[in-house]
Formats: sequence, structure tokens, C-alpha cells
Amino acid sequence: MARIVVKFGGTSVADIDRIKNAAGRIKAEADRGAEVVAVVSAMAGVTNQMVELTDQMGSLFDAREYDVIVSTGEQSNAGLMALALQTLGVQARSWLGWQIPIRTDGVHGKARITGIETGELERRLTGGEVAVVSGFQGLGPDGRITTLGRGGSDLTAVALAGALGAERCDIYTDVDGIYTSDPRIVAKAKKLAAVTYEEMLEMASLGSNVLQTRSVELAMNHGVRLQVRSAFSDAPGTFVVKEDEIVEQQIVSGISDSKDEAKITLLRVADRPGVAAGIFGPLADAAINVDMIVQNISEDGKTDLTFTVGKGDLQSAARLLQNNQADIGYEQLVQDPDVVKISVVGVGMRSHAGVAQKMFQTLAEKGINIQVISTSEIKVSVLIAEEYGELAVRALHAAYDLDTD
Ligand code: ASP
Ligand code: MG
Repeated sequence: MARIVVKFGGTSVADIDRIKNAAGRIKAEADRGAEVVAVVSAMAGVTNQMVELTDQMGSLFDAREYDVIVSTGEQSNAGLMALALQTLGVQARSWLGWQIPIRTDGVHGKARITGIETGELERRLTGGEVAVVSGFQGLGPDGRITTLGRGGSDLTAVALAGALGAERCDIYTDVDGIYTSDPRIVAKAKKLAAVTYEEMLEMASLGSNVLQTRSVELAMNHGVRLQVRSAFSDAPGTFVVKEDEIVEQQIVSGISDSKDEAKITLLRVADRPGVAAGIFGPLADAAINVDMIVQNISEDGKTDLTFTVGKGDLQSAARLLQNNQADIGYEQLVQDPDVVKISVVGVGMRSHAGVAQKMFQTLAEKGINIQVISTSEIKVSVLIAEEYGELAVRALHAAYDLDTD
């Protein structure tokens, strides 16, 4: 018998009517004969509210209590969903993370799943019961509730699908799939029937908020087939699968834009061993993620170094570097928050030359200056001035023939 995991994100279970709508979809799967595990998020906005309440309590931070508080939205939604299903005549029971249990490490607030004991769950599933599971939470080694990091309900769903050997994990959300570009920017953007895990990972780390990055990694490692689809329409979504499952692979699958970038340039840095370590060490210690980096060599022993951080980290990164100016030895720090990272993503570029060149040519024809370039095996990214972001995305979408049907 087919076994599937379905996961409903915050907007798709944001109120009673939507929970009833989601319950209808779960019932439809059960009526088709599937064994169904339904993972639920908190109602949209509720987790933020809980974080806010924790902040309001004062500056004392206790990660164990934080987890107790922020995990509550998923608890009430699991109960409500089980009731909604029972009302439709479906045999259903709710499960909190600790009841299964979903075991995690002890990193409260950002725990990793270490194992899932599926025995009781499987017994219930084969007995015809739908299991409704609270996303985002687990049981730490200290016997207390842990949470899996923001967006962690995706991780719960993928981990359960892997542990239960589910044939599919459907992620119901408020978009109906993965598009070649942001449809708000490119009117001709199209929904992709399928993307590879690698492409989805690049897109997730480029700021597409559709799936939590860690959940895509886990799905890739365990070969869990994902489908991103809308909770509000019956249209098929986008499958996230292995490369060999995709019949017609394009060279470029999509153009992403990430506005959460800020640029820092250190002018006239000493050109000697240990300088990069001296710059990026303190940033790493402060958990500031650095993305693109460029450095050049110079003739007079001084060099300029440019890199990007998330917009929210710009202030603290600049302050850290200014405090360490004497140690690092640079002359001036320049910061620029008005930048955007544009990326061309596609596994097809592994075997095709000229993908980067086409990007540079297209931007040149539009008179757009490239500030920083970085590449991976399946991605080329450039940093440009924010004001040209939309123009660049539209031009690239056309240049890689993504506009055509
Ligand atoms: N409710 C949690 C959050 O907002 C987990 C999730 O929805 O995936 O981060
Ligand atoms: Mg989410």
C-alpha cells in the first residue's frame, strides 16, 4: 500500500477554514488507499508571535524555555487537524515530537534530528489511522522539547518520509510550485514540472523561501521524492527529484534574485599570509555568514578585498571589522547595502560551455555593471546594483530561452 507524507505550511493551516480544507485533501489521499502521515506547521504568524512574547519577557534567554514556547503553535494545530479529520469520518490521531519520538541532539532552537522511532506510528498506519504530526519539534537528550530551526516543519516531514520509506512527500504551501523565475518580476516565468535536489538547494540558499534548505539536503541524502504544491488548487506542483528522473533537462532551469545581500569592501589591505583569516575569523565567530568573496593581487603589497553578507548582518560585520582595523591592517571600509545577487542555475551547465559568457554578454548589452562574480558547478552568480535587479532577471530569462513555451 502506498505510504505518503503530506506537510501543510503555515498559510495552508492559518485558520479553521483552511485546516478543514487541508483535512479534505488528507481524506482524499486516505480514500485513495494511501497510508497518510500529515505534518502540520503552526498557523501563519503564530511562531513569530511566540518569539515576540519570549523577547518581551526580558533579556534573559533560556533556549530550553524558548523551545517550549515556540513549539506551541504546532501542538494546537495538530490537535485541530486531528479533530477536523475525525469530523470528516477519518480515523486520526495527533502526535507531538516527543510522543513518536523524534529524537534530536541537544542544540535547543536549532536541533538536528538524530533518529525516529517509527514502530508505533507504523502499527497505527497499517491499522488505517492517519497520523497527524506536529512539525518543527523533537525530543532532546535531556528529555525536553527541542525545535528544529525556523521553517523546520519541512524537516520533520522529510525526515519522517525517509524513516517510513514513504513513496512521496508532498509539501503543501501558498505557491503552486517552483518557477523559472519570480513570476512577480517575470510575467513569462513558468512552473517547472521537476527540478533536481541540487538545483533546489541552490535556489533555497538563494532566498527562495519555498523549502527549508536543510530539508532539501536531507531529502537528497535519503532519496525522498518531494512535491511542492498549492493547498488551494488541484494543479500538480513541482517535483524535486534525482537528475535521472528528469526527462527533458534544460541547460538552465531558472534565474534567481536574492536581495538579502550587502557588500563590504576593505581598501588597501596588506597582501600577506593570514590576512583573510584575520578578517573572516571574527565574522565566523560572530556567526556571520559570508557569501561571495573577491580579492585581487597588487603591485605595492596592498590589495582590495570585497565580500558580501546578509543585509541584517551588515551593521555588526562592519562594526567588528572597524574594531579590528589595527590588527587586520586596512585603510578604509566601504559598505553598500544596495546590491542584489542574480544567479543562473541549472545542472545542465556541468556539460555545456558558454553559460557564464552568455550571462556576462546579456548584462553588458543592458549596460549593467558586474561587481562580484562567483560560480559553482551548477550556478553562476553576479552581484549588481539593486536598481538593475529586475531588468537583469528579465533579460536573462529571455536570453536562456526560458520565455518561450
Ligand atoms: N512554525 C515554524 C516556523 O514558523 C516551523 C515551520 O512552519 O516550518 O518557523
Ligand atoms: Mg515553511
